[in-house]
Amino acid sequence: MTVLSQLTDALRTGRIEVVDLTAPLSSRTPILELPPQFGQTQRFELAEISRYDERGPAWYWNNFRSGEHTGTHFDAPNHWVTGRDGHDVAEVPVERLIRPVVVLDVAERCAADPDFLLEVDDVRAWEREHGPLPDGGWLIYRTGWDARASGQEEFLNADGTGPHTPGMSVECARWLAEESPVVGIGVETVGTDAGAAHSFDPPFPCHAYLLGSGKYGLTQLRNAGRLPATGAVLVAGPLPIVTGSGAPARVLALVER
Ligand code: MN
Repeated sequence: MTVLSQLTDALRTGRIEVVDLTAPLSSRTPILELPPQFGQTQRFELAEISRYDERGPAWYWNNFRSGEHTGTHFDAPNHWVTGRDGHDVAEVPVERLIRPVVVLDVAERCAADPDFLLEVDDVRAWEREHGPLPDGGWLIYRTGWDARASGQEEFLNADGTGPHTPGMSVECARWLAEESPVVGIGVETVGTDAGAAHSFDPPFPCHAYLLGSGKYGLTQLRNAGRLPATGAVLVAGPLPIVTGSGAPARVLALVER
């Protein structure tokens, strides 16, 4: 048996399960909101062209409009000024879109503290239990935030002082970008950075360090709780938008059962 026939056989028999990490994409999908002085991303919107009617008697189809960073999506290096000379989303080498993935689960701590920030020591503790982070693989930082993904307000969790969603410290972002072997970070929140990261130094350190290091982000993931801590494979399929800074993506995980 070839490796690929073993894979397709395991998929057919269920020995490998495909877990969908992607949020459904609709006009209700939560989106990032920036302070009013900045440009805003837009919701996903469908516009019907025809639906088996006089506009097209035998066919149904739509146009759509969407931000690149709407719903489950891929952050390319050129999304951030620190990575402006890096790859756009269409230039990301495709072999990097199928990589090992590990899951660091701090959902309980985030339930107790929505402003929870992951520290390097937390990653080190995870490595003592599960082994080193995968070389060229993804780290999914599981916060449990996907449980809030059905509503914009609950998802952004903002009050007069801004959004309150978990993320990571400046040093943890720098360490993951510059010292760890991962190719990118996946999160369940609206962006890879904490809700309060606008006031960090540097602001939005996950974006600044990861994308500045030629690494990637994946956001608004769901079902990460169905993945093992180690041993799964992540398949990320961002649309190859030429010159784009990111794109909505179908993100799947292969899990051995
Ligand atoms: Mn983004």
